[in-house]
Amino acid sequence: PSAQTASFGPTVWVEFSPLAAKYKAINLGQGFPDFEPPSFVSEASIKTTESGGFNQYARSAGHLRLVNAISTVYSPLFGRTLDPMTEIMVSVGASEGLFVAIQTIVNKGDEVILIEPFFDIYTGAVTMAGGQAKCISLREYKEDRKPGEQRSSRHWKLDWSELESAITDKTRLIILNNPHNPTGKVWSREELLKFSEIVQKHPHLTVISDEVYEWMTYDDAVHTRIATLPGMYERTITIGSSGKTFSITGWKVGWIIGPRAIVSAISMSHQYVPFSVSTPHQEAVAIALEQVEQRNYFHELRTMYQAKRDKLVGGLRAAGLDPVVPEGTYFVMGDTSNIKLSGDQGQNTSLTGMGLNLRDWNVCRWLTTDIGVASIPPSAFYSEEHAKEGFNYARFCFCKKDEVLDRANQSLLKLK
Ligand code: PMP
Ligand code: GLN
Repeated sequence: PSAQTASFGPTVWVEFSPLAAKYKAINLGQGFPDFEPPSFVSEASIKTTESGGFNQYARSAGHLRLVNAISTVYSPLFGRTLDPMTEIMVSVGASEGLFVAIQTIVNKGDEVILIEPFFDIYTGAVTMAGGQAKCISLREYKEDRKPGEQRSSRHWKLDWSELESAITDKTRLIILNNPHNPTGKVWSREELLKFSEIVQKHPHLTVISDEVYEWMTYDDAVHTRIATLPGMYERTITIGSSGKTFSITGWKVGWIIGPRAIVSAISMSHQYVPFSVSTPHQEAVAIALEQVEQRNYFHELRTMYQAKRDKLVGGLRAAGLDPVVPEGTYFVMGDTSNIKLSGDQGQNTSLTGMGLNLRDWNVCRWLTTDIGVASIPPSAFYSEEHAKEGFNYARFCFCKKDEVLDRANQSLLKLK
């Protein structure tokens, strides 16, 4: 392998989904829905296949019907008319959008600020670009809880002085994830204003805002798009994904939205990676997006997930895994401090030999093999230096059928 990729080994996803399958555990690890997409989405796909005419390469920067549909949905949310031809690009899932955006923005030796815990794909892309990840952490401020207030993702906060001192002359990019995987944090408008104020002190800084869970917000949490704050549009790339939006993670259709200058540069790189994205899937996603308003679909999605969140949160609480109640995403962090492993418990079932001595990996393996519920060890979302900040948690996902969540809750009661 090249110098840039020599450090790569299997990722956490390669360990826990096969482990869950091997031990027939309920898989609340890797985040993907176990139910079919809504019928109007499946029907859009059938219609596209049956009609023919969508079987050849698409326009490199995005199939016309899809970029138009994205512009129609997002223009009101961004408070500006988004030009479908120059301010939107379709990617192979949000993942490729992130990858090409990072390759296009980051020079060899540039620093990229990542906010821990972070979705693990970011570091791979930064490393391949020859960039240097600089990690600062969200921390849970328990003292901010009002009397009687439940533990919540909103108590996970960034220390602004840490952000300020992480920025140097070499910093080129900051990656924000809102709503945030794995904590479920929905960044408040006040937080994002503060964030923007710091960013705007440095004219050389660009922000990637990964908003793939944008429709999954609960209670009274409001998702603010950082690109809509004063002075931010010109320096922000916003990332979205049909996989999360329509429960079709296997279709791998995502998009980026941003100012013409940056999006057009990213589209130039995208020509050299996939060149274009699956035409029939783009056509079908376009047909689906055209219907979201009349169907009030985002409201329905949110209602469905809020009920699933409450179900899993209840189960974790009953099992003594004090949950950090998420205001967004389809993940919840359970606190595993009460679990005491002895000897080599959790180590002897490792499939890849990864994370062997890390507490959360051992706990998550043991939960999979002995309790029958798979989750993800959050230290995989931290740099090696800060891994221990994830040791007392396990991340569970609730994008699963109600009966599956019920069975998981039942199994978790074995912990009592
Ligand atoms: N960003 C975050 C925070 C995610 O959790 C995911 C899920 N895989 C992605 C990006 C990638 O999305 P996609 O499946 O559309 O590539
Ligand atoms: N984004 C999903 C998660 O965090 C899936 C990740 C993946 O498959 N790479 O669980």
